[in-house]
Amino acid sequence: PGTERPQGRVVDDEEGGLLFLFGSHHSSSAKHGYASIEKQRQRLPVFKYRTAILYLVETHATTIIVGETGSGKTTQIPQYLKEAGWATGGRLIACTQPRRLAVQAVASRVAEEMGVKLGEEVGYTIRFEDVTKPDVTVLKFLTDGVLLREMMDDPLLTKYSVIMVDEAHERSISTDILLGLLKKIQRRRPELRLIISSATIEAKSMSDFFQMRKKRRETENKDHGPQVEPAILSVEGRGFNVQINYAEEPVQDYVQAAVSTTLLIHERESAGDVLVFLTGQDDIDAAVQLLTDQVQTTGKHSSGLIVLPLYSGLPRADQELVFSPAPRGKRKVVISTNIAETSLTLEGIVYVVDSGFSKQRFYNPISDIENLVVAPISRASARQRAGRAGRVRPGKCYSFSMALCCYTGIFSSDMQRDPATPMLYTEEYFLNHMPNAGIPEIQRSNMVSCVIQLKALGIDNILGFDWPASPSAEAMIRALEVLYSLGILDDDAKLTSPTGFQVAEIPLDPMVSKMIIASSQLGCSEEIITIAAVLSVQSIWISGRGIQKESDEAKLRFAAAEGDHVTFLNVYKGFHQSGKSSQWCHKNYVNYHAMRKVLEVREQLKRIAKRIGLVLKSCESDMQLVRKAVIAGFFANACHLEAYSHDGMYKTLRGSQEVYIHPSSVLFRVNPKWVIYHSLVSTDRQYMRNVLTIDPSCLMDAAPHFYKLQQSNHLLF
Ligand code: ADP
Ligand code: MG
Repeated sequence: PGTERPQGRVVDDEEGGLLFLFGSHHSSSAKHGYASIEKQRQRLPVFKYRTAILYLVETHATTIIVGETGSGKTTQIPQYLKEAGWATGGRLIACTQPRRLAVQAVASRVAEEMGVKLGEEVGYTIRFEDVTKPDVTVLKFLTDGVLLREMMDDPLLTKYSVIMVDEAHERSISTDILLGLLKKIQRRRPELRLIISSATIEAKSMSDFFQMRKKRRETENKDHGPQVEPAILSVEGRGFNVQINYAEEPVQDYVQAAVSTTLLIHERESAGDVLVFLTGQDDIDAAVQLLTDQVQTTGKHSSGLIVLPLYSGLPRADQELVFSPAPRGKRKVVISTNIAETSLTLEGIVYVVDSGFSKQRFYNPISDIENLVVAPISRASARQRAGRAGRVRPGKCYSFSMALCCYTGIFSSDMQRDPATPMLYTEEYFLNHMPNAGIPEIQRSNMVSCVIQLKALGIDNILGFDWPASPSAEAMIRALEVLYSLGILDDDAKLTSPTGFQVAEIPLDPMVSKMIIASSQLGCSEEIITIAAVLSVQSIWISGRGIQKESDEAKLRFAAAEGDHVTFLNVYKGFHQSGKSSQWCHKNYVNYHAMRKVLEVREQLKRIAKRIGLVLKSCESDMQLVRKAVIAGFFANACHLEAYSHDGMYKTLRGSQEVYIHPSSVLFRVNPKWVIYHSLVSTDRQYMRNVLTIDPSCLMDAAPHFYKLQQSNHLLF
């Protein structure tokens, strides 16, 4: 592509990378009929850097772009690249995101800006959903996980001319694997361009990572290819000041505190939308409910507030509501997970209420237990969250966290702070307790999926892989052990044929994939695929404060003695027989949108199963087979009830961890002697979600090697 060389200075920054400072202008070709969108585009901070970005991308193999959230990185840069000709001759431009919801939202925004139908020139792909058109789509938004999967068919990603790895500061596990692999690909494909974009200044470590060794650099520069030295560009934002208010007393219940704060803002503050950060669907739904209830009971504000949840898994129609402006005279309150921290920009937010928490994955390689924990956010995140208030005009952030907190007197504070150094929480907490930055997910995750993916791509020396941040050796060894016991890796740590290769083809947790493969051999794949589809959505039940009793009663109508997995089959059957009716769902406290998703995922899984040669068959009502298939994948999650426990305490067979059956399970309070669980969540205790009763002798049959090993350590049977 021909890019004019911009007027500008190139300087060495102190970090050893090259920093480019530009002050150039670009006259864009405003498309007829899209003037207002065109104007909006030109007002974004990134627009001033258009020429600079295109120049850097043309001349450098890797360009690192840092810019504040909302400056236009995600929506604009792919369009600039297309306008400059990077998508000609059948080549595509990819832009990755760690989150599915962000992929959908951004792709639809870009399609709108370009005045095209989503799924044509601009498309997106997330797991189980491909909205692209071959030979037509040129801008493709996708999750980093999906791009990794594409490498299995096209290891050098040859159809892409530019790959933009967005939200790199999030350091999701897939982003890190992707960066490691892209670095390898670049050596084989010097024409490939990478853009790494991020909302926080952590460019130095990224730049170091993409720095090639000196010798390589010399040989490569001879070919007049792009410079292998990464370029760093910093987009200057134009955020407004954010006044930060924090209370002095700890709050007991951050959901309630967030709700009260929101109501106070609504009562006392001038117009402007509110963004509330909580941790997940459960507390967000609870907050929406509380807020709606309190508005109704007091009656005072009933006409003025529009309360909307925002989390992944939200149906499309609800997502769109979040982005549309509130009607005149109304105030929009969006209650979100940390997806609104940097992935999505909402217009019109003037007030932010920050709980100081997010859900984070933690893995312990010793006990081999991974769970999602509500944990304090980092200082970097806290700054980001507060910054969401200062997009349209000076804003306010109300932050609190249980550790210290901030609630009384929040409205009397008149402290005006520079947004570059906002101080959230108490100074003491902010300075001494809040971690500076988060730990990359790869260092707090189970490595099982990651190992399979690398193996499937032919990368055998996993311990020697060039990671942006290395996972722990213990986690790696654990993963190899588990994969070996699942029959996915052989004695030489290579993928087994066919099981290992089949597992790698299914875009699910390897234990789920193994369960599906076993079901094909056992003759119950129809049932197991339904179960796998249900397990892939967050929850098929409607729950919430105030309706617990009714929903528990409804659940009993489907409850199976075997446990949750079989219960899911009963729900699916009922839903199917009702003609997939939303009324049926409503009556039975079943989440209709979740069930629609289950249907979709189920179809996709059946397609994949057929492709990899599995047999689709129903076992009718032989639940013994279903149980065997589940055990074939999840034998490592077996637990037994402690003989003298009065409160239903179980211990895991591996690691002897104390765990309890989650109240949402149909086996809650039933407490059968032996169970296996699908996943753990931890709040005050470790809870097993989705539990199935088992016969312990099946464990030995399913994984003799695994349990012989365990037996020598603990006396189990
Ligand atoms: P960045 O990636 O730098 O955080 P984006 O490209 O996501 O910034 O956003 C640029 C601008 O586009 C923002 O002002 C944002 O409000 C707007 N925008 C992005 N997505 C949407 C959407 N789905 N609906 C309306 N506006 C949007
Ligand atoms: Mg972005």
